[in-house]
Amino acid sequence: MDAHARDISVRNRVSVNRQWMLELRDRISRLDRLLRIRKKLAEGLLPFDHPTTVVQAPSAGQRCTGCDRIAMPTNLVMACTVRYGHKFHLDADCYEVWQRLRRSYGQHA
Ligand SMILES: [Zn+2]
Repeated sequence: MDAHARDISVRNRVSVNRQWMLELRDRISRLDRLLRIRKKLAEGLLPFDHPTTVVQAPSAGQRCTGCDRIAMPTNLVMACTVRYGHKFHLDADCYEVWQRLRRSYGQHA
């Protein structure tokens, strides 16, 4: 194998590795989100109640109650209110997970 071919082979391997890393990071971040939201539901930090109002808007720098990250201005944030006026913000991904978990727990409770 000449130097050029070896160079291409190394670059391909680096590229495959990087792709694998990105996919792994994505899976870990999804799992992390799911576990955080499940824990918050269990600890009462997020409600099981159906939201009475949901206002969707681009992030104004709010911290997401689901993943504790500051949502970027390019992301949508849901301002949710449940009974008793409990209000919190969730980014779009956390909102989807919260709704899914909330419903599935509700069905088995
Ligand atoms: Zn979040």
